[in-house]
Amino acid sequence: LAITDYLRQHIRTVPDWPAPGVQFRDITPLLQDPRVFRVLIDAFVHRYMEPARRPEVVAGLDARGFIIGSVIAYELGVGFVPIRKKGKLPYTTVQETFELEYGSATVELHTDAVTPGQRVLLIDDLIATGGTMMAGKKLLEKLGATVTEGAAIVVLPELGGAQRLREAGLELFTLVDFA
Ligand code: 5GP
Repeated sequence: LAITDYLRQHIRTVPDWPAPGVQFRDITPLLQDPRVFRVLIDAFVHRYMEPARRPEVVAGLDARGFIIGSVIAYELGVGFVPIRKKGKLPYTTVQETFELEYGSATVELHTDAVTPGQRVLLIDDLIATGGTMMAGKKLLEKLGATVTEGAAIVVLPELGGAQRLREAGLELFTLVDFA
């Protein structure tokens, strides 16, 4: 609980961005202060160093999932694979399209990023509707990998994303919530 409050104090809320009525939770202050950054990363590393939870690969979601996901992977001593927005990955990919509030988005993963049966930890900065993390889970599962857990710094419980992800069978670990 102390860590939760400490981290929450370093998340900036920006009203009406990127659209009127949206309260954007800006995680950049967490990264900017080296002591806070370390507490943040260590909270994940501590959990996933546990032998029963230790993944074989960390997959990070574009783009803030890359920032923390790669550092967590490095600390765990496992590889990192990026799940990118459409059109960024050079090699052959699997794709997954999901609905946004207005329109849709597509994410991609290299076909050789994971192997069947591999245990993958999926990381993003924030879970809102859960659409992004659900798409990441589906991509990894298309390649036969097992997503052992989804992790994020922030969850917005009112949007129901975390509940939908859990109902779809994904265990979640988050550090801070904003009601
Ligand atoms: P979802 O797909 O769960 O609706 O939205 C989560 C995705 O959108 C994540 O990739 C996250 O980076 C981004 N996102 C949506 N709202 C916010 C927000 O308030 N703060 C941050 N940092 N990211 C957000």
